[in-house]
Amino acid sequence: MAEAEMTQDLAHEYTRQALLSRAESAAALLIFLDYDGTLVALERTPELAGLSANDRSALLRIATLPGTTLVLVSGRTRAFLQEQLDGLGIDFAAEHGALFYDSRRGETLPLLQDSPPRWLDSARAQMRAWAAEVPGSFVEEKELSVAWHYRNAGTAPAAETLSVFAARLKEAAGAPDMDILFGKKVIEARSMYAGKGAFLNWYLKSRTGRTGALIICAGDDATDEEMFGAANGSGGIAVRVGPGATCADYRISSPELVLPLIEEIALRRALCGKQLP
Ligand SMILES: [Mg+2]
Repeated sequence: MAEAEMTQDLAHEYTRQALLSRAESAAALLIFLDYDGTLVALERTPELAGLSANDRSALLRIATLPGTTLVLVSGRTRAFLQEQLDGLGIDFAAEHGALFYDSRRGETLPLLQDSPPRWLDSARAQMRAWAAEVPGSFVEEKELSVAWHYRNAGTAPAAETLSVFAARLKEAAGAPDMDILFGKKVIEARSMYAGKGAFLNWYLKSRTGRTGALIICAGDDATDEEMFGAANGSGGIAVRVGPGATCADYRISSPELVLPLIEEIALRRALCGKQLP
């Protein structure tokens, strides 16, 4: 992916002020946040990465601000996100946008036509075989996609091994619509029609009548870059969490700083009278 010509680091005060000024004048805010590595630090296993009581309170404060919509956009399963966000009334996209959960109605909308994808069982079987081959690695089973994590493998597989795995996966499943993602110590098979960028565009078209709403999104991994591209295309603000090539305009060093930044934006808007109902 193309590195933005000038990704600016929010550790610098002038950069921070520039972002706050852009947000303070917007009629409304639409905030899209990734979960792992963005709201919570990456853990040894996905189950360990839960929201703290402080995170939950901050999310609730943000989500209930006037003129502000907060949506979580994650590769996680619907069940996990439902559990983490229980009682907060926050909408989310699970499995990279393959499913959308409407918290007010308490209903889930599948956004993929082929749901589940017909190659899913084959991909699961392949990944289980990899897990047996690479000690310490494990498979994360989802409804419409499947991921193999090798973060805890005693010896990390070589890049060539990963390429061979990925090629075999696609071949065995005979699935031209399968997208193979190389994330942070994870390989994931998902439908090429699911993606955070596609989700963001769908959401803007179907779920919001807000005009003049400013999009702010944050994420830390390859799948978030699709979301950043969509946000950039709509005049929004993208924030990359941590290192890595990115098309985001801004970078922030760690997940602990993300919710405080969003709250600072909210405070600035309140001071400018933009959060009055
Ligand atoms: Mg992430």
